[in-house]
Amino acid sequence: MMNTVHIDLCPVCANNNCPETLICKDHLVTGELFSVHRCSKCNFAFTQNFPCEEEIGKYYDAPEYISHSDTHQGFINSLYHQARKISLKSKTKMASKYSSETAETLLDIGSGTGYFLNAMRRKKWIVTGIEKSETTREYAHKKFGLNIQDSEYLFKMPDRTKDVVTMWHVLEHIEKLNDTMANLHRILKDDGVLFVALPNKKSADAIAYKEHWAAYDVPRHLWHFSPDDFKQFAEKHNFKIEKMKPMYFDPFYIAMLSEKNKGTSTASLAGLFKGSLFFIQSLFNTRRCSSIIYILKKK
Ligand SMILES: [Zn+2]
Repeated sequence: MMNTVHIDLCPVCANNNCPETLICKDHLVTGELFSVHRCSKCNFAFTQNFPCEEEIGKYYDAPEYISHSDTHQGFINSLYHQARKISLKSKTKMASKYSSETAETLLDIGSGTGYFLNAMRRKKWIVTGIEKSETTREYAHKKFGLNIQDSEYLFKMPDRTKDVVTMWHVLEHIEKLNDTMANLHRILKDDGVLFVALPNKKSADAIAYKEHWAAYDVPRHLWHFSPDDFKQFAEKHNFKIEKMKPMYFDPFYIAMLSEKNKGTSTASLAGLFKGSLFFIQSLFNTRRCSSIIYILKKK
């Protein structure tokens, strides 16, 4: 019997009425079904009965899990890698633009293979990374000479020491949601800035694909935010949202994967086409974007 985590109270507002809203499939590894529940009060959603920290490892055990690997095989992957180059540039720019002039210390949580940290180090930032996978930490060390810490490090770091903390599509994977956010507030300097990139369950593509939407990504994604419930969550932890930025490539990538989940035979083509429609919508309204970068400061 697998050890799972059952959520009784909404992790954002503590409401106890969170009925099932969707049943999603793990399309990447096991084909198992997981239900997504939604809080009746604040609309925050979460994957119910997800595998605990000790057992979730096997659900990441896929060569396609490209955020953690460097494979260039396949059409979708090669597009992904091109897009990653461009978005890497925009992330490094953003970190400088929104932080104070004297900012120099940066922590990237879920630093993966280390590309972002390496790019920031080349811009003279003093960088620290946290990554839970030991294999991935070793990869980042071999490839870039980066010394990456394990997950526990966040809770041991001294108060008010970081100018910038980044989490690029990571918070939705972390079991200790509230503890993590509280510690981010603790380790940030008073004028520090926090970047959190998250899929948006109220995006045009999420609404269109419903349970096939690839960014539900159960059971790897535990938490499913929209701009409204993320704002409430941020404020609960004494952060305010300074700005929301769209991630322009995600609608294409997510639409291609979602088409594949639906069983569309020409998934990549269909996904590219529909992705362009979602992309166009997101140009007019960031709140409809597939993924959003939230830029937060302390209240
Ligand atoms: Zn709630």
